[in-house]
Amino acid sequence: MRTLRTVAELRAALAQPRRERRRIGLVPTMGAFHGGHLSLMRRAREECDEVVVSLFVNPTQFDEDADLADYPRDEGRDAMLAAEEHVDYLFAPAVPDIYPDGFSTSVSVGGVTEALEGASRGRKHFDGVATVVNKLFHIVVADIAYFGQKDAQQVAMIRRMVRDLDIGVEIEVCPIQREADGLAMSSRNVRLSPQGRLQAPALYRSLNTAASLLAAGESRTTAIRSAALAELDAAGIRTEYFEIVNPETFVPTTSVEGPALAVVAARVGDVRLIDNQPL
Ligand code: AMP
Repeated sequence: MRTLRTVAELRAALAQPRRERRRIGLVPTMGAFHGGHLSLMRRAREECDEVVVSLFVNPTQFDEDADLADYPRDEGRDAMLAAEEHVDYLFAPAVPDIYPDGFSTSVSVGGVTEALEGASRGRKHFDGVATVVNKLFHIVVADIAYFGQKDAQQVAMIRRMVRDLDIGVEIEVCPIQREADGLAMSSRNVRLSPQGRLQAPALYRSLNTAASLLAAGESRTTAIRSAALAELDAAGIRTEYFEIVNPETFVPTTSVEGPALAVVAARVGDVRLIDNQPL
């Protein structure tokens, strides 16, 4: 595996494989790898000839300075794990390589970004993600890009952006990887206190509560939502939102008729966690 630091280096490395029409896969990440990241790399390795993993803690998508400052970083460990997954290129640029002096462009996707994460974290978050992912798509020009269902609204936004801007990349979404007790794997989990780690699986339980109620014939969102919120309250977790939404538009539903997605965001101590489950 080669670690590349600049856009020019990565482009040069990919020139030959591209001429040979080799299939290029991109896995965008912010590092601090866990099983979720590794599952994306494995899928890319199975399906592509060249696997590029980007590792960039994108400052523009953070809505809280403390979250950016405390974001776990360990490039040495990440490089080792990526090499074990037979990744070909680790693209780990510095901030000025991605945002050089004078950088003034922002990509903003409307509609699907407005509620939930967009409302909780502010416009800046999804604009930051859309802009950096767009840049990565242009830098790598991958055939397939891999994202996790864990960030479901982000995936919906990226699909929208790819359609709207006619970006020639296929988007593949990989299932949520979980710890044994159901907690969705996340780079932020290492920041949970021992007590927080015990409370955190309540997010997953709240999603299961919603799924069981629906399976038992309850279709009113208000009833499902209050049972899920009770589960989170009982664990002493501060819920930011629990909603049942249309999986494409992310508009909340009042009654579950067709395909729906239960989504939750909550703070466990000062760590913000999200999770979701199709219903
Ligand atoms: P991040 O480094 O948190 O920006 O995540 C990089 C990619 O890994 C994103 O596409 C995430 O959706 C995905 N990802 C994060 N956590 C998980 C998980 N538990 N299961 C599957 N994919 C995940």
